[in-house]
Amino acid sequence: MSRLILGVDVGGTSTAAGVVTADGDVIGWQSAPTHGVADPLATMTALIEGVRKAVGRRADTIAVAGVGVPGPVDVARGRIGEPVTHVPALARRALAAELGERLRLPVFVDNDVNALALGEWMFGAGRGKRSLVVLAAGTGIGAGIVLDGRIVRGATGFGGELGHVPVKFDGPRCFCGGRGCVSIYASGRGSPTRPGRASPAIRRRCWSRRRVIRRASRRPSSSVPRRTVTPWPPRSSKRRARPWAP
Ligand SMILES: [Zn+2]
Repeated sequence: MSRLILGVDVGGTSTAAGVVTADGDVIGWQSAPTHGVADPLATMTALIEGVRKAVGRRADTIAVAGVGVPGPVDVARGRIGEPVTHVPALARRALAAELGERLRLPVFVDNDVNALALGEWMFGAGRGKRSLVVLAAGTGIGAGIVLDGRIVRGATGFGGELGHVPVKFDGPRCFCGGRGCVSIYASGRGSPTRPGRASPAIRRRCWSRRRVIRRASRRPSSSVPRRTVTPWPPRSSKRRARPWAP
């Protein structure tokens, strides 16, 4: 019998735990509100115990556990960074060590959308491809990037945070410290200062999620207005490119 994997997805609203095969088949799962009890780790542990019981004797072959959390993660150390906006109790926790001690299993922790991107790359829409980008529009805009078979994490774990790419440099301040991030205009949060309640001014300028997806799925040539495309070098220029010489 092949060995099984325990997967846990911690979300801002609910947490799910499942037992999966090495081929990606889910053989049992359970979910519960993330904030139902004081410590999200207690929610995880209760769910894991529940799903272990649900799969019966097959639980004995669980070899490893993986956890996705909605925040930056130092994957090598299994430690969560900050901010973990939707589950602040997890910020700065050494989750891999804490959970590994309780489960007596090796535990790997990663950002939830990175885990989603790896899942799509291994078993879903990106199977057989070298690279892909996953955009997860929800309370915020999350993203995971697989490039040539490796997750792009960046120097401090923010490598795939495309939701915090500025699209309006003088826009409203975002909780990340930047201004005019795409998450402000296109996510469920919709407001940099009052989570869950977009200001009327932002709502007027904000694209709906459906509109963003519709625009993103167009062919690039049709999404760029011709008048914004400036030829370079300008046609009037007589100068020719010269080799660079300091
Ligand atoms: Zn931001």
